[in-house]
Amino acid sequence: MKPLLKNGIIFLCAVFLIAGFFSLYSRSSVQKEEKIGIATFLEEVADEKIERVELQENTILITLKDGKKQTATKEPNDSLGTLMKNFNADPEKMKKFKIDIKENSSGFLLNAFFTIILPFLILGFFIFLMIRQIQGANARAMNFGMSRARQFDGKKEENRITFKDVAGAREAKEELQEVIEFLRDPKKFTNVGAKIPKGVMLVGAPGTGKTLFAKAVAGEADVPFFHVSGSEFIEMFVGVGASRVRDLFTRAMKNAPCIVFIDEIDAVGRQRGAGLGGSHDEREQTLNQILVELDGFDPSTNVIVLAATNRPDVLDPALLRPGRFDRRVVIDLPSIEDRTAILEVHARNKPLASDADLRKVAERTPGFSGADLANVLNEAAILVARRNASQITLDDIFKSIEKVILGPERKSHVMSEKEKKITAYHEAGHALVSHLLPDAPPVQKISIIARGQAAGYTLNLPTEDRQFRTKKEFLSELAVLLGGFVAEKTVFEDVTTGASNDLKKATRLAKNIVTVYGMSEHLGQRTFGDREEMIFLGREITEQRDYSEKTAEHIDEEITNFFNGAYAQAERLITTYREKIETIVQLLLEKETIEREAFLAIFAE
Ligand code: ADP
Ligand code: ZN
Repeated sequence: MKPLLKNGIIFLCAVFLIAGFFSLYSRSSVQKEEKIGIATFLEEVADEKIERVELQENTILITLKDGKKQTATKEPNDSLGTLMKNFNADPEKMKKFKIDIKENSSGFLLNAFFTIILPFLILGFFIFLMIRQIQGANARAMNFGMSRARQFDGKKEENRITFKDVAGAREAKEELQEVIEFLRDPKKFTNVGAKIPKGVMLVGAPGTGKTLFAKAVAGEADVPFFHVSGSEFIEMFVGVGASRVRDLFTRAMKNAPCIVFIDEIDAVGRQRGAGLGGSHDEREQTLNQILVELDGFDPSTNVIVLAATNRPDVLDPALLRPGRFDRRVVIDLPSIEDRTAILEVHARNKPLASDADLRKVAERTPGFSGADLANVLNEAAILVARRNASQITLDDIFKSIEKVILGPERKSHVMSEKEKKITAYHEAGHALVSHLLPDAPPVQKISIIARGQAAGYTLNLPTEDRQFRTKKEFLSELAVLLGGFVAEKTVFEDVTTGASNDLKKATRLAKNIVTVYGMSEHLGQRTFGDREEMIFLGREITEQRDYSEKTAEHIDEEITNFFNGAYAQAERLITTYREKIETIVQLLLEKETIEREAFLAIFAE
């Protein structure tokens, strides 16, 4: 569409330009002169009124002695002299005025230019444009099968990334150290008959730094780095992906030793035969081509393929066979130590205030990935810049943590007094239950300032990293989720729509306790429902029933049991500590937010 528009504009411009020329050119000969007949002209000659005459082809431009200008038209082919003779005028009179004969050559040339040459030029121009466009389209079609891999030149100092830029993840670094040594000095290994690994699969949640690791390996080994995403192989046409894979590997061979990094390999590497929809054939072909390339290149070629995925479970087993991606490096979500280290890396070029203890930040961010942490510090820096301050304080960082978890504050959101009161009771309910149950995480902050979708929020974060979750924790979490709803109900004897999100989460949690974690005593330690990955129209269709109707009923009963148990627990706590709820609500209505210290003070009394 775009070139067409451009051509259209050029065409219009050309038309206007030509029209402009024509009007100028034709205007020049008709300069407000009075038109007269030949007879009048001859009369004027006889009366000696004429000062000067200019002949322009068949037009006689007359300047009278009184300054007036006139034009007359004579017959073509007749000279002025013949004209006079034909009309029997006195030839002597002709000597009384000056005669200029203009060849009008410029006019003729212009005429010829506009009428003959210009049309050809315009035509030629358009043909040229058309040809060029067709050629462009051809070139694009030829490029279609080329890999879109971006080459990242780690040799340039400014974008060189090394392990110094990657904090934490010690085990992963150790495993990748081997790869670096292979790249640096392959002979050492081949001399003793060791095979160089071809593929390494980096497994980890989004944002844990898989791309960063791959770049750092390239930086440490001082080799070029090709970056491509699995989804880029997939196009509308079958065969394109495969040809891109071929092209990518050809490029990589030329640049050996080097690293090829395939991000999101699960986009192409899903188990063959699973899934619905059309892109299926294409994926299979692309995957096959990757396998062919991995098997095909000579083991002494120093190209190592790193691939990243956060779904190792869906990958085709053929990818993971020996000789392919047979090495697996797992990158976990960072522990508290690693989080501190990651924060330190990202705080390098940021002015931190002396109170900004990054360890405290790490304590408040369990479950955050490296990318989340980088984001938190960046948000904090933005906050500081907007405040026109020069240093990032701990408070700024805490604020941006909340922003990252809950979305931005909506201070402009106006709540009526009644809504505020309901929100305050609701949040007090969550907070009270969370505080009193030993297996629930401690309360960090309560607020009735709207944030994201929520009218208010209670921030309760575990203080330690958790690898496992216990049944008791789940049950406490369920009670905390219901705390808001229960508080509204006991105080106002009515409920609002504000609790619907809590109820949804609670229902899902209760269901997972039974079906996913197998924590129901009645139903036994098994899981229910086979969660299979199938992508259809971009959505995951999960769960296939692997149990009977009767069991389904039992599952429903169990879910209800857990739900009711948690409800009763929350209700008991809220009625017993009703006066604490009132204190919290008073403070909330007054201050809008309560920090951990103030909250603990309420219970210290
Ligand atoms: P992934 O590829 O796993 O989704 P990325 O490698 O793209 O994650 O990481 C995104 C960003 O998060 C990185 O650019 C980096 O700023 C930050 N990050 C992640 N992990 C770390 C880490 N261990 N050390 C330092 N920064 C990290
Ligand atoms: Zn709630």
